[in-house]
Amino acid sequence: MNRTTRASVLMAAMLAWTQTGYQYYCTPSLDAITPSTCIPDKQLPLRWYRGEVPVRMDAALSADMTAADALTTIRQSFQTWNDVSTCSHPLMVDSGLVSGKKPIVAVSGGSVGNNLVAFQSGDAWRADKAGVDQTGVIALTTLFFDPNTAEIRSYALEANEGNYQFANYPLPAGFQTDPRRSTIDLANTLTHEFGHVMGLDHSLDNQSTMFYRAPAGETSKRTLEADDINGLCSLYSQMYAEVNPDAETGGGGRNCSSDATTLCLFGGRFQVQAIYQDYAGKLGIGQAVPLTSDTGYFWFFNRSSLEVIAKMVSFCTGGAKNVGVYASGLTDVGVTLVVTDTLTGLVKTYSNALGNPFDLVRDGPFVCQ
Ligand SMILES: [Zn+2]
Repeated sequence: MNRTTRASVLMAAMLAWTQTGYQYYCTPSLDAITPSTCIPDKQLPLRWYRGEVPVRMDAALSADMTAADALTTIRQSFQTWNDVSTCSHPLMVDSGLVSGKKPIVAVSGGSVGNNLVAFQSGDAWRADKAGVDQTGVIALTTLFFDPNTAEIRSYALEANEGNYQFANYPLPAGFQTDPRRSTIDLANTLTHEFGHVMGLDHSLDNQSTMFYRAPAGETSKRTLEADDINGLCSLYSQMYAEVNPDAETGGGGRNCSSDATTLCLFGGRFQVQAIYQDYAGKLGIGQAVPLTSDTGYFWFFNRSSLEVIAKMVSFCTGGAKNVGVYASGLTDVGVTLVVTDTLTGLVKTYSNALGNPFDLVRDGPFVCQ
């Protein structure tokens, strides 16, 4: 698992170039080629392959605000991204308060995020930040991702409460500013940070919410600009499943729409896509070929060479009372299958590591209608 961090900084050097616009993080280098896109066939943008991204909140919240104010501000800040209605994208969901969890936890082979928003100071803030320039850092979002598929797996969102005093502007009469810390609008900070959580890097547009700089007292980043919305929609439009419930369909999601890289199976309820990585490190998206109403396959390098086959199977009249996915491959390149249930919004991913003969996928996570 790899990680990347982007800090919101109060002060920073002048930009050395003049292009404007949103940017992605791109594997393997993480740096997008401006203005926005990753290099085709060589890079993939970091993004979620699930319909819902959990947002857990450290129960200690902020020492500078009431719990109610902090909670309301956190929820409003991610809801601002959820409210983008011009495209399908993952939704951040309130997953409750947790106590005693670190934002970043060590696991064998590295570390993962706890999908946690935490206000940190002192040693807790300094932990896990070796190599990060912390001068003027208001908050820090760390993404943990699969370097082969660019799938974001978890994150940590830490606010630097030791050096900044978080508040809601306009400051109420009698508000006690701390002379040792700059006072910062919390929603301004968190809305920006939740953009990182969704996979957006800093924008070069100095009017955007994803611009890196945030002076004390600024509130303009509470709302999204066109560049931010374009960045989110561009990031998720290429292959993200249409799982965002919308008002027109009564919140029930949309049917699959097939294209060159998307299988629509089971009467159009399920959408199946494949990402691969070859031995040269090249990343790509599998080309989809339907075979029957419930079965299809993908080719990667040559249309005459089948690589991965997948089918959806109903066990609704049998014992299991679910809908299952079976998949197998005639390959040992790296593969991630993304199966989206457009009825419920559930997205499941199945990964085969580079070098491993493809193991049979047999899973029944989908509900009967
Ligand atoms: Zn930032």
